[in-house]
Amino acid sequence: MSDFHHGLRPESRIVHPPVEEVVGSRPLGVPIHQGHVFAFPDGDALAEAFGGPDRAFLYNRLGNPTVRSLEHAVAGLEGGSGALAASSGMGAINTVLLALLRSGDHVIAQESLYGGTFAALADLAARWGVAVTHVRGDDPEEVRAALRPTTRLLYLETVSNPTARVTDLPALIGVAREAGVLSVVDNTFTTPLLCRPIEHGADVVVHSATKYLGGHSDVLAGVAVFADAALHHRVWEHGVELGASLDPFAAWLTLRGMQTLGLRMRRHCESALDLAGRLAAHPAVTAVHHPGLPGHPDHELARRLLPEGQGGVFAVDLAGGREAAGAFVGALRLASLAPSLGGVHTLVMHPASTSHRQLSDEELAAAGIGPGTVRLAVGIEHPEDLWADLEQALGKL
Ligand SMILES: *Cc1c(COP(=O)(O)O)cnc(C)c1O
Repeated sequence: MSDFHHGLRPESRIVHPPVEEVVGSRPLGVPIHQGHVFAFPDGDALAEAFGGPDRAFLYNRLGNPTVRSLEHAVAGLEGGSGALAASSGMGAINTVLLALLRSGDHVIAQESLYGGTFAALADLAARWGVAVTHVRGDDPEEVRAALRPTTRLLYLETVSNPTARVTDLPALIGVAREAGVLSVVDNTFTTPLLCRPIEHGADVVVHSATKYLGGHSDVLAGVAVFADAALHHRVWEHGVELGASLDPFAAWLTLRGMQTLGLRMRRHCESALDLAGRLAAHPAVTAVHHPGLPGHPDHELARRLLPEGQGGVFAVDLAGGREAAGAFVGALRLASLAPSLGGVHTLVMHPASTSHRQLSDEELAAAGIGPGTVRLAVGIEHPEDLWADLEQALGKL
């Protein structure tokens, strides 16, 4: 503490405790910089800090060292030039959409999207004059036919919920690139360990880091990764205005979880494929929607696009319809009935009555969701324990 500080009264000194610097060694883990504001030696240095996402830290809404570590980590895995973290997946998605779109623009988006994203696009259409065309997303010609002179953005998800349809990213993004249209891909279900959309031409990759990246069901976070630094800067400026900034402790939890992403993803993929195969042979199950199984409509595409694994989420159709689905999820003991996915715990849910309840019967059928469809998000428990649980629950139907 300086002589100046020593001369202060206790009330002043306690507001300015000595800040310990790490000298002579380095912290092995990423430190939590929880303070939201940074002090500068002079006015010019402070003015300079307002210039962009690559300048000195000044205020957490514009950037923070712990949050920046997460941004660099995810950008590195995705092969992007930079990233912007947000307080949730929806925070990242809305920041990207609002930064890149204006009234009069046109968006082409897949039909089967995460519910929050679907609603955000519907809101942009109803209240902000953004035209949205939904496509099935399994045919590049359908995207080409939907293009308009005002088309600004193509919005895709690598793997759909809950029937695990795989999107042909190179083909669809190729059509957008030819037309000068930006592509945004939600890569939450596959993570950069299984798929890196920027390698297939995507301009922006978004994540609900709440799911696999965080991985322990204890943090809400989102990240947008940019192929190009100018696009990053543009969206960062809007992010500062919107204020869906990530808290440093949440960034720290996400980084802590991400250290085991490699181990966890291998387990999620292996267990899900193993259980999908066993469920397909069970008499109470009429269909299993897992792209790693030969009967899935995107099996060949998955072999090409997701050779390292297809993630931990898939769906089953139960012979007994809605009643069987209710009895099944109620009889499970190890797997929990809960929304979300990507954590260490195995979760199940019934899409027709929850995540997809706003769809009509025809829309449900078009999305491949029946009354007896149950989604499984396989965790990292021992697969034999999970199978025993699924088998005992199926035995009660
Ligand atoms: C959960 C999820 C989101 C939204 O993320 P939050 O962190 O809950 O805001 C977006 N996309 C997909 C695919 C998701 O699973």
